Amino acid sequence: MTEHAVVIAGGGPTGLMLAGELMLAGVDVAIVERRASQELIGSRAGGLHSRSIEIMDQRGIADRFLSEGQVAQAAGFASAPLDLSDFPTRHPYVLGLWQNHIERILAGWVGELAVPIYRGREVTGFAQDDTGVDVQLSDGESLRAEYLVGCDGGRSLIRKAAGIEFPGWDPTTSSLIAEVEMTEEPELGIRRDAIGVHALGREEYTIIDGEIVYADSGSVRVMLTEPHVGTTEPDLSDLSEGLVAVYGTDYGIHSPAWITRFTDTTRQAATYRARRVLLAGDAAHVHSPVGGQGLNTGVQDAVNLGWKLARVVHRTAQESLLDTYHAERHPVAARVLRKTMAQVALMRVDDRTEALRDTVSELLSMDEPRKRFAAMMSGLDIHYDLGEGHPLLGRRMPDLDLVTADGPLRVFTLLHVARPVLLNLGEPGGFDGTPWADRVQLIDAKYDGMWELPAIGVVTAPTAVLIRPDGYVAWVGEDLTQRGLANALTTWFGPSSAA
Ligand SMILES: Cc1cc2nc3c(=O)[nH]c(=O)nc-3n(C[C@H](O)[C@H](O)[C@H](O)COP(=O)(O)OP(=O)(O)OC[C@H]3O[C@@H](n4cnc5c(N)ncnc54)[C@H](O)[C@@H]3O)c2cc1C
Repeated sequence: MTEHAVVIAGGGPTGLMLAGELMLAGVDVAIVERRASQELIGSRAGGLHSRSIEIMDQRGIADRFLSEGQVAQAAGFASAPLDLSDFPTRHPYVLGLWQNHIERILAGWVGELAVPIYRGREVTGFAQDDTGVDVQLSDGESLRAEYLVGCDGGRSLIRKAAGIEFPGWDPTTSSLIAEVEMTEEPELGIRRDAIGVHALGREEYTIIDGEIVYADSGSVRVMLTEPHVGTTEPDLSDLSEGLVAVYGTDYGIHSPAWITRFTDTTRQAATYRARRVLLAGDAAHVHSPVGGQGLNTGVQDAVNLGWKLARVVHRTAQESLLDTYHAERHPVAARVLRKTMAQVALMRVDDRTEALRDTVSELLSMDEPRKRFAAMMSGLDIHYDLGEGHPLLGRRMPDLDLVTADGPLRVFTLLHVARPVLLNLGEPGGFDGTPWADRVQLIDAKYDGMWELPAIGVVTAPTAVLIRPDGYVAWVGEDLTQRGLANALTTWFGPSSAA
């Protein structure tokens, strides 16, 4: 039986990101993916929020996405736009890029890292014991792994087979989505009526002065809210009827590339770990696509889990480190679910909801609420509860321009190798991390600029910070003592080599 330290079921955005993280950490990882190629049927996610672009920047691959996508102030809450152009990040925008391109770019990165992918095969079941997991594949073969991670989407077989509950809310609304050809010129843009919100747009577009400008020709992406929650597999005649009901014509639709449906089903796995089996991405949480949070949350789950799982596999951490994955990421997705439900409720089309939506939009046009919601929707305000202390503790490390003895250096460049960093900003050699030097990069640097966090504002400059491989701050030095440092290093990166 072929063995791997970690087997990932599902090579969508979450599984690919996790595989890259594990490979960077030197873990023998493999993906099992049902699809024979990375080709994706359906449009799904339309882009990356600011924090996800930062995550890619932390690994040195942001340019691959930026060079293919279009940046815009496209974050919003229900219909209220949220401008984040004044945010302290190198990426204060949304990057418009369809999921098939995001997956292709991630698959290219994972390919360079030489992650084996068992394509065209499904995980059909598994059995776990005290030392590992036997993973059954649809071709009759089995794989043996120390850990199995279900990144296999909302209908996750791994979640079901692990017996993990998926509590939440049934759908209240559904929409048909499709990519089709039209013989007549459609009314491009968004339309609201008594049924709900509908949209027609060409697949090809550019963003000029913040406005979407569609190509003159080419295939059309259709989104039609249905009068009742649909349950059967939709086809071209359903789409034609829907278009006629809303626009009075079906614009001569033909040659669909795909037709599918999404709903606002909202559910979250009760636990992200069942012994040697973990869940990430849609396998752990599903919700309406409003606000564009799903792929972003999944990719960030992967970056939280990857380095922790690597340490456990390398036996440099106890298994209990994996419980911090649930402790940190479950609340993040729980908040996404609630805020997404709120947006779906605000998108209803009756007069009272419209009045409520206008009221919320008015509130969100004020500076403080705008900043808070923009920080939330962009993922820049994510805060892991690592205890009381400096505002940086548990928050993302900003990508500062440092000066080192070897010249200028960006913080994110230090994270390309996905290893922790102890950044000393005081006297060179002022912090003694030597007993952890085999695991932690020790960097002496200077930074004279402001320390500003999204939505929080300017914070006092620390004398040192301990940055985890996922870019979150695990310890902040506020004076010349090393109070709490040894404890933080031990908690996250194991006992000192001198111990
Ligand atoms: C209409 C729509 C619009 C959306 N818009 C946005 C948006 O703007 N922004 C955003 O962030 N998100 C958006 N999303 C959500 C986003 O598409 C998902 O959150 C994202 O795809 C989740 O990634 P994943 O890797 O966790 O799961 P998936 O993308 O579902 O990938 C799961 C993978 O596992 C494979 N698989 C499944 N079962 C097995 C098995 N048993 N064995 C092996 N392989 C298996 C599948 O083939 C698939 O490749 C949207 C979704 C929809 C439907």
